[in-house]
Amino acid sequence: MNTNNLTSKTVKKTTKSSPAKLTQEVKEKAFSLGAHLVGIGPISRMKNAPPELNPKRLLPEAKSMISMAYRINRGVQQVHLRGVSPMSFSRFGGLEPKFRLDDMALDLANFLEDFDYVSLPIPTNQYYDIEKGLGEISHRHVAMAAGIGRLGRGGFLVTPQYGGAVQLITVLTTAKLKPDSILEENPCDGCPQPCVSICPVKALTPDRDRVMKMDGKEYRYGWLSYFRCLWGCGGMVMGDRFYALSDLPMPKIDDEDDFEQIQVEFLLAGEKRFPWDRATRGAFAYSACSKCFVVCHPEKLKKKNKDSN
Ligand code: SF4
Ligand code: SF4
Repeated sequence: MNTNNLTSKTVKKTTKSSPAKLTQEVKEKAFSLGAHLVGIGPISRMKNAPPELNPKRLLPEAKSMISMAYRINRGVQQVHLRGVSPMSFSRFGGLEPKFRLDDMALDLANFLEDFDYVSLPIPTNQYYDIEKGLGEISHRHVAMAAGIGRLGRGGFLVTPQYGGAVQLITVLTTAKLKPDSILEENPCDGCPQPCVSICPVKALTPDRDRVMKMDGKEYRYGWLSYFRCLWGCGGMVMGDRFYALSDLPMPKIDDEDDFEQIQVEFLLAGEKRFPWDRATRGAFAYSACSKCFVVCHPEKLKKKNKDSN
C-alpha cells in the first residue's frame, strides 16, 4: 500500500505541460481562486527597473511574472467618493482585497510548485520601507508588463475593465509561461483627468511625466509628488475627502521626492497634530485617501461617448 497518499495532500505532477498549456492552467487557477484579471509577463520586461525594486533580486531564477488584480466593489467606491464614511473603503477597498490577493498568490505559487517550478508570492502593497515609501517590488509596473493595464496620468495602473479601481499582486515563477502583450492603447487619451482634479493636496499634475523603458519601448506616465500624497494620506488634512483629526498647512520643500526632507517635515508636523490624534496614532497616521484611482473610470467615459454617437 502506498502510504504517501495518506500522509501528503500534495501530488507532484510528473508530466510537465507545454508552456501554452501550463499558462492556460495557471490562468484558470487564478480565476478559480477569485482573481478578476490575470496577466503574464516575462521577467525580462523588468530589466530596467531600479535594483531595489527589481523582482529578480527576490528570485534570480524567475522566468515569468504573474499579475493578478482584484476589483474594488462599486458601492464601496461610491461611499468613498462621497466622503460619507471611511469604513467600507478601508475594509473592503483596501484590507480585504489585499488579504484575498495574498491568499490567492500563495495558492497559485503552490499550484505551480506542484509542477516542480519554484514560485514566489510577493505580498500586496503594504510598505516595508516606510522611509522611502517603497514596497518589495512595484506591482503596478509588473501588472503593466503582464498586459493587465497601463500606468496613467495618476501614476497608478489603469485597466480597460475596471479603470484604476483595482488592487494588485504578483507571483514570480521559474516556469516559462506564454506572455501577454503590453497594452498599446493609452487609457488617458481623451480623459478629462478627474484623478488630477480630485486630489485635495495637488499631488498630481496635468502634464509632468515620468518616463520608463519596457521591452525596448519608452512609456510615459504621470509624476506623483510623494510628499503631497503622504501629507494627504498621512492624516494631516481634514475635509470631505479625508478622515483626519488634524488640519495642518503643507510646508514648502525644495525637492518633493527627497525622503529625508519629507521625514523631517512629518516629524515637525507630528508635534502640531491634534492632541488626541497624536496620542493615539503617533506622528504619522495612514488614513489612505486613494481618491485618484477610485475616480478613474475611462471605460465608463468611452461607453458614454459610444452610446451618444
Ligand atoms: S482618471 Fe483619466 S487621466 Fe487619470 S489616470 Fe485615469 S484615465 Fe488617466
Ligand atoms: S491618494 Fe489622494 S492624496 Fe494621494 S495622489 Fe491620490 S488623490 Fe492625491
